[in-house]
Amino acid sequence: MRILLAEDDQIIADGLIRSLRQTGYAVDWAASGADADTALVTNAYDLVILDLGLPKLPGLDVLRRLRARNSPVPVLILTALDGINDRVKGLDLGADDYMAKPFELPELEARVRALTRRSSGTTPVIQCGALTFDQVGRCAQLHGVMLDLSARELGLLEILLARAGRLVSKDQLVDHLCGWGEEVSHNAIEVYVHRLRKKLETGGVRIATVRGLGYCLEKPQEERRD
Ligand code: CA
Repeated sequence: MRILLAEDDQIIADGLIRSLRQTGYAVDWAASGADADTALVTNAYDLVILDLGLPKLPGLDVLRRLRARNSPVPVLILTALDGINDRVKGLDLGADDYMAKPFELPELEARVRALTRRSSGTTPVIQCGALTFDQVGRCAQLHGVMLDLSARELGLLEILLARAGRLVSKDQLVDHLCGWGEEVSHNAIEVYVHRLRKKLETGGVRIATVRGLGYCLEKPQEERRD
């Protein structure tokens, strides 16, 4: 899951980025409306967290331009407490949810989970054989036993599970796992996959390497249709 955070307040942005990355999301940060607009034209996101009071291009204009391009990406707007008119305008322009500042991080995280879940059209729990992944609780179980996974491993597993039975390239993994300013090489991806594989193999869940191309989380036999 890749999130664009458009927020000019560095303290708010730092806190949000840290917390979202810990949860396994890739986060790109745009500190102005113009930067957010450029990012939205050039990249694909699963969610946008959009402050309305942004320099260079106001948040409402970023949203208007986004929807004019027919982008369906979910947008969560952030507004000052007294900005009720902006909130209404934002929702009218196609925002999916809003939060008033100051907000509590756990509530924002819950809204992020709800929006990404709704847009991906999946149930909160993804199942693949003995493996279950709870997208709401951000945790995975193998044969009912909780797996001890790092944020990166969790993000990796989520992508592989969402595309179970299909090839996922290393470039796709880098795109989904990393925000701007984060350097993750193909070698690092190999290390994450290696660690994740070790944690899954005892439960009979296999991540196959497709040499030179990427990885594929193999579906259990009974779920295969071919
Ligand atoms: Ca602001």
